[in-house]
Amino acid sequence: MSGIKRPTAPALGHSRPLSRGIEPSVVHTSRGPSDLDAIYEGQAPGFTYSREGHANASALAAMIDEMEGVTGGIAVSSGMAAVSAAALSVLKAGDHLLGGDQLYGRSLRMMTQELPRLGIETSVFDPTEVATARAALRPNTKAILVEVVSNPTLRVADMEGLAALAREAGLILIVDNTFTTPRGFAPYDHGADMVIHSVTKLLAGHSDAMLGYVSARDSDVAARLRGVAITWGLTPSPFDCWLAERGMLSFDLRLERATATAAALADALAAHPGVSRVLYPGRADHPDHARAKALLGTRMGNMVSFEIPGGRDAAEALAMRCSLAFAPTLGDVATTLSHAASSSHRGLTPEGRAALGMGEGFFRVSVGIEPAEEVIAALTDAMP
Ligand SMILES: *Cc1c(COP(=O)(O)O)cnc(C)c1O
Repeated sequence: MSGIKRPTAPALGHSRPLSRGIEPSVVHTSRGPSDLDAIYEGQAPGFTYSREGHANASALAAMIDEMEGVTGGIAVSSGMAAVSAAALSVLKAGDHLLGGDQLYGRSLRMMTQELPRLGIETSVFDPTEVATARAALRPNTKAILVEVVSNPTLRVADMEGLAALAREAGLILIVDNTFTTPRGFAPYDHGADMVIHSVTKLLAGHSDAMLGYVSARDSDVAARLRGVAITWGLTPSPFDCWLAERGMLSFDLRLERATATAAALADALAAHPGVSRVLYPGRADHPDHARAKALLGTRMGNMVSFEIPGGRDAAEALAMRCSLAFAPTLGDVATTLSHAASSSHRGLTPEGRAALGMGEGFFRVSVGIEPAEEVIAALTDAMP
């Protein structure tokens, strides 16, 4: 693993800015038709109209490509734009998409509400049990969409089993690597064909840029992705790309700190009498601990989930008393607390949530970079 390098900014005379500028121009001029032809055909470097691509997007995509060990990935306007680009580039009417049953809520909504309108069949399976994927295969199954660690129950997918199944059945394995990050899990070394990120989260890390990234191992699929993103208008803003590039320079430090604090927080919560259950893949009591160790090594991530007894009233009291930001997102420099029943899983019935082991007292913590003692005290001091 090599460190994150700052992309080289274009030279200005005999000097070069150390950090890249923001290039908001919607259009670039060129000398004439032959130059423009060459740029459009990819035979000469340069840009045309910024929906087709711009310098800030290229720089950001190249940084993530380097981390994922691939080339030709693209930056798009959000994580969901990345999921959309992946789906729209490899699926057509009559195909079947198999998705993890605990995917990001909007990805699930895409599967239930949007793709079927385009004539694409979808169904879900339990990614911790590869047999459920095998049982759900149809003759027209084209792709599998999976997240390595589920939100917020932090279950770990059987990535080896799924990669073997995808290979055997000739399916495209699409991995949303947002939660695990390129440092926690290397999808392309584990059989993935496409990788998605919500750059909005840990990679950019400061809750001020909304962006996505998607890449493909196969260069034809990568070209399709690029075409889909341009035609469907999924282009990111230069300013957001610039913010993300800046944020990513500290990604490794942030992840290291947040991961260490998350492990300490999980242990502190598990020892607290007011907590009925703690979920952290790095703890021996996690149902997928062995698999987490095999897939993630020591990079168990910055997410910790826990449950307190006492229903909605106790949950309300905890959130109100806790000094952490109560916010339905993850990956910020600050630690944030979220509550599945009122945010990510509000679309489910109480019975549906209960089936996932998510009662009214279920919280998820996205650990940030504050000192560990502060994060632990913020939660333990607020316990009923
Ligand atoms: C947030 C998230 C997305 C969507 O990303 P946006 O940038 O919010 O559109 C997709 N997948 C996962 C796992 C996420 O956490």
